[in-house]
Amino acid sequence: MTAALHPRVQPHFEKVLSRNPGEVEFHQAVYEVMLSLTPMIGTRPEYAQWSVLSRMCEPERQIIFRVPWVDDEGRVQINRGFRVEFNSALGPFKGGLRFHPSVNLSIIKFLGFEQVYKNALTGMPIGGGKGGSDFDPKGRSETEVMRFCQSFMTELYRHIGEYTDVPAGDIGVGGREIGYLFGQYKRITNRYESGVLTGKGLAVGGSRVRTEATGYGTVFFAQEMLAAVGESLDGKRVVVSGSGNVAIYAIEKVRQLGGTVVACSDSGGYVVDEAGIDLDLLKDVKEVRRGRLTDYADARRAGARHVSNGSVWDVPCQVALPCATQNELPESGARALLSNGVELVAEGANMPSTPEAVAMFQGAGVRYAPGKASNAGGVATSALEMQQNASRDSWTFEDTEERLEAIMSSIHAQCVETAERYGDPGNYVMGANLAAYTRVADAMVLLGVV
Ligand code: GLU
Repeated sequence: MTAALHPRVQPHFEKVLSRNPGEVEFHQAVYEVMLSLTPMIGTRPEYAQWSVLSRMCEPERQIIFRVPWVDDEGRVQINRGFRVEFNSALGPFKGGLRFHPSVNLSIIKFLGFEQVYKNALTGMPIGGGKGGSDFDPKGRSETEVMRFCQSFMTELYRHIGEYTDVPAGDIGVGGREIGYLFGQYKRITNRYESGVLTGKGLAVGGSRVRTEATGYGTVFFAQEMLAAVGESLDGKRVVVSGSGNVAIYAIEKVRQLGGTVVACSDSGGYVVDEAGIDLDLLKDVKEVRRGRLTDYADARRAGARHVSNGSVWDVPCQVALPCATQNELPESGARALLSNGVELVAEGANMPSTPEAVAMFQGAGVRYAPGKASNAGGVATSALEMQQNASRDSWTFEDTEERLEAIMSSIHAQCVETAERYGDPGNYVMGANLAAYTRVADAMVLLGVV
């Protein structure tokens, strides 16, 4: 965080630092948006008049709760649950739940803050929020995961609703967990309120393409960035970090569009498979067996190489898609990618590149898309799921995917047009932040000081 903020913005940032001590991820996310505001300062006096920026940095509501549950050995376990309802100017709070041992208030607040702007870019009527727990699902049995989800919802249910706050999945929360959470919500409230959660299974009100949406959307966005300079993914060599839901469906879409994904990673290292990642095997290892990439490499025998210490960014590629987690792509990763001639970076994860890495990409003229623009396909499809639930309808895969593609194309156009309007063409960070900020801020002005 080295570049200077506009002198009229700096005091707001200092207030965020002093009001939220030690919340480094939250500070990072706020700083990145504030940095983009420079060319807009003074152009919208009503924003200053109504203290929009200060209000945007303070969540509307923050809930922290105890989640007690009993493990398979009969021992009582205690976790901490969070739901940060950040901003509802555009619609009900909307955003995922993350179950991971690293979860704390700073991480949930940064994710909630990012979600506000991401959701605004989709053009759908959804505000932003985020939640989760420091519960670690790794190594837990199916029944333990179910009991945890039931206990989590026993508190969360009173805060959510289809017109209030609509959670979904994130890291550690997929279709299985959403099913258990929805089951408990339904039981406690005695309402089949399918619009209260998204990412549900098809049999209980889910939407087609929701599972694939974040990964597919990221690749649609990358394809738009390439098309803008007369190129495409066809024939490109691609590296994807992660091997969870976002990474798997990014790999699938890259392959459909003619690119080759040669590497992906998990917390134990990365695999390089020069023939292209074997998607059926990856899905079997990760989605069915819930295993590790070492299992993938063992099954591929001589076909793949597993590297347990090192960085996936050392693998040469033209297109890099960070799809794992925040700050997974530091300055050293950016340097390695640049020295191997990377041409484009589009984020599938939330804030995976550190500010130093972003500055390096932009300084080197590499096309770089921030997650709040390029990974918005997941939440956009969640909003499509809400639409289907509200109208008691269910759309085909083709229809839903077409809508997703159109939304990603519209987000791309907004980023490009806004960056041009504010005098920095090709700057997707500025384009995304200013387009989103304006949409949320305009709504907040209309609603008065609330
Ligand atoms: N967790 C996803 C995200 O980061 C999806 C949220 C949702 O569908 O509400 O955008």
